[in-house]
Amino acid sequence: MNDNQSQNTTFLPEGSKRERGKDAQRMNILVAKAVSNAIKTTLGPRGMDKMLVDEMGDVTISNDGATILKEMAIEHPIGKMLVELAKTQDDEVGDGTTTAVVIAGGLVSKAENFLDESIHPSIIIKGYKMASEKAVEYFNEISEKVSVDDRQLLLDIAKTSMTGKAAENSSALSNIVVDGILKISKGSKELEKDQIKIEQKIGGNLADTKLIDGIVLDKEIVHPEMPRAIKNAKILLVTSALEVKEPETEAKIQITSPDQLQAFIDQEEQTLKTMVDRIQATGANLVICQKGIDDLAQHYLAKAGITAIRRVRETDIETLAKATGAKIINRLKNVTAKDLGTASNVYSKKIAGDDMLFIEGCPNPNYVTILLRGSSEQLLAETERTLNDAIGAVISTIKSGKFVAAGGSSEIEVALRLKNFAKTVGGREQLAIEAFAEVLEIIPKTLAESAGLDAIDTIVALRTKHQDQSNKGYGVDVINSTIADMKKKRVIEPIAIKTQAVLSATEVAEMILRIDDIIAGQSSKSKTMPGMPGGAGMDEM
Ligand code: ADP
Ligand code: MG
Repeated sequence: MNDNQSQNTTFLPEGSKRERGKDAQRMNILVAKAVSNAIKTTLGPRGMDKMLVDEMGDVTISNDGATILKEMAIEHPIGKMLVELAKTQDDEVGDGTTTAVVIAGGLVSKAENFLDESIHPSIIIKGYKMASEKAVEYFNEISEKVSVDDRQLLLDIAKTSMTGKAAENSSALSNIVVDGILKISKGSKELEKDQIKIEQKIGGNLADTKLIDGIVLDKEIVHPEMPRAIKNAKILLVTSALEVKEPETEAKIQITSPDQLQAFIDQEEQTLKTMVDRIQATGANLVICQKGIDDLAQHYLAKAGITAIRRVRETDIETLAKATGAKIINRLKNVTAKDLGTASNVYSKKIAGDDMLFIEGCPNPNYVTILLRGSSEQLLAETERTLNDAIGAVISTIKSGKFVAAGGSSEIEVALRLKNFAKTVGGREQLAIEAFAEVLEIIPKTLAESAGLDAIDTIVALRTKHQDQSNKGYGVDVINSTIADMKKKRVIEPIAIKTQAVLSATEVAEMILRIDDIIAGQSSKSKTMPGMPGGAGMDEM
């Protein structure tokens, strides 16, 4: 440490700390291990939940890797990389976040042993990369094809993604997810997640959750005298407020007499009236506004028989534009009938005492909403995450057209093939490839533990089964605490969860192993690192 410190003083600001070479690597590995260990026990249908309490005392209870990592508010840069990894996995395939982080943690942890034996990081990295490319190849080899409209198979995928979550309602919810996706896919692989919107409303219970053929907004109509049901709606989407702009500070208006005040008010009224006139001239009968709507404008709109809602989320406006064919308008000045979208059936309906707006019969019918009901905020939030995972899994299956058996069976099979491949490579890379295979086995091991099985015995039993190619579907049956042919049990997963997890986990492990120098400015002094006794900061290392 001493020579480090003397170097610090040469070019770094006072109070900066620097860790180099082995110290830096060790610390990063420690953090990566700590973070991945923290979420490992959530893996699988019998994984445990984590309860997270933020600074404001708000509680999140979750089993979802990405959510837990996000809520952990990790300060250490390596921890942040793992949070990013989970996010990428979520964005790319919508499921498998825990798997990705556990694999990354495992790779880094194995690398530590190699570093102890003075094997250079570049050799480990080379071996890992060879292994990950081969692993993707092997996952593809063992995968099976699925057609875009195989309802039963997609249902199995959704169910696997949901087992252990949403409890006894997972079957009904899987059906809703698959029905929704089949409605919007219509045999095509071109699917986007925003075509299936989840709108949650507290009250009732999970069993009341419904699929709506159209878009639902948790918004009430702004004025009681506006029509509450519209057939053949002509829809205007506007992003600016239907209000008179507040005068800028430098342009403050000096009002010195009552006449002037009246004139000013008249002018404001006139501006709002003109706005509504312009809208009315287009023939619109429904205004959906991203910002506020002035009381007086509401009054004029109601008088003109036009329904309006306000403060609608930008993402919803974008979805509405695609579904209804409306243009998104920023300024009302040149708005015309051509800018309007349509929907054959729009109505406001009370759900749990609140008005919600239903927009059905859109010209582009490829948009549906899952109206999620449940008795508590916690339940709704966690179920929405579960639904999102299932939607991601089904969409990803349709896109890749391939699936593998769950319960760690694909990992076991790929690990076996990797070990054979390693022998053909030889040298020190062989060791890294074998280590990679062992890391994949962490998935079935963890699933076994969660089911109360002995991890080692289970792995050995699975390896034996997999010697026979007709048994390559064997994995951990977590629900029945035994090993079983998961493919025959129809517990299956999209291939992309596996390949994406392996590829991005390898990339992150590589990044972590390449770092041999940490320079921290003084401001990081107060920051603590997760997973370390007493949250030790960098200063104490
Ligand atoms: P992730 O965030 O990685 O998706 P999950 O908690 O959703 O983590 O767990 C996914 C793992 O659980 C996968 O390895 C999957 O094969 C396994 N799994 C899901 N359902 C079952 C089941 N019924 N039996 C055994 N394993 C299952
Ligand atoms: Mg999952």
